[in-house]
Amino acid sequence: MEDGILEIKIQMNGMSGRVNRNLIYPNHMASMLGSSVVILTGAGISAESGVSTFRDNDGLWEEHRIEDVATPHAWESNPELVWHFYQTRRRQLLEVKPNPAHYALSKLEDGVKEFTLITQNVDDLHERGGSSNVIHMHGRLRTLRCEVSKKYEERMEEEDLQNDFLFCTCCAEPNRVRPDIVWFGEMPMHLEEIYEAIERCDYFMVIGSSGHVYPAAGLVNVAHSCGAKTILVNFEPPANAFAFDEIHLGKAGEILPDLVNSWLE
Ligand code: NAD
Repeated sequence: MEDGILEIKIQMNGMSGRVNRNLIYPNHMASMLGSSVVILTGAGISAESGVSTFRDNDGLWEEHRIEDVATPHAWESNPELVWHFYQTRRRQLLEVKPNPAHYALSKLEDGVKEFTLITQNVDDLHERGGSSNVIHMHGRLRTLRCEVSKKYEERMEEEDLQNDFLFCTCCAEPNRVRPDIVWFGEMPMHLEEIYEAIERCDYFMVIGSSGHVYPAAGLVNVAHSCGAKTILVNFEPPANAFAFDEIHLGKAGEILPDLVNSWLE
């Protein structure tokens, strides 16, 4: 695997961070049949569905700075802005569709012995692409969380998607709900389940993530130290590219379907 990593570094230096697309190493391809596979996806896998990523746009998310819309402090200081931002993201779910990368992961799930899909994404495109038991470590847009009881509930009816604040159905005196999202500075969800799955996997793959957001970006190191083979599918080398045994550069929707077919041979 070392030759592959070396190649990435040389190409990055030579081309200012932009390297050849579809950098695939056929010699290193192995069948995943009968294996335990853990996948971690990021915003990049939904990009071809028309959902904006975060770091591809000068560090802005739909023209907002992360600190203005995705922190507990932002919610305290300007809840209207934060609420409108997430209501817009929630309404967008009705307009976007899964792309071939989402469907490819559903096919991979059906073909291997054990499969765990962890996503940093808050959209529902994996579920709609046929994946089951998706672990949303950064929360979900479809659900809203009571600020008092912390219980979450699915709220996607038309009246739930307006810009007015909403109130819970769990308390005797309804309390305001917040987006059911893990904001920067908050603890990701399901970490115990995530570490358990990674500790027993044979393959750990990251798709469409810039490697900047921790602890998600560090999970590849956990997988590596547990003996898993680590694979990356991303449009460009992420911040933690050095941690992967095998790297495939390109758009996930274009290259993942063929990769999955080869892994299931
Ligand atoms: P990121 O925006 O930081 O990085 C996206 C990565 O995907 C980049 O490295 C980019 O090169 C790559 N990429 C872009 N298009 C691609 C494609 N077609 N195929 C493959 N790769 C592609 O995303 P992140 O690492 O997930 O971190 C951002 C944070 O923002 C996460 O916590 C996430 O919850 C949140 N976020 C979520 C969504 C969503 O739910 N769809 C969208 C934006 C941001």
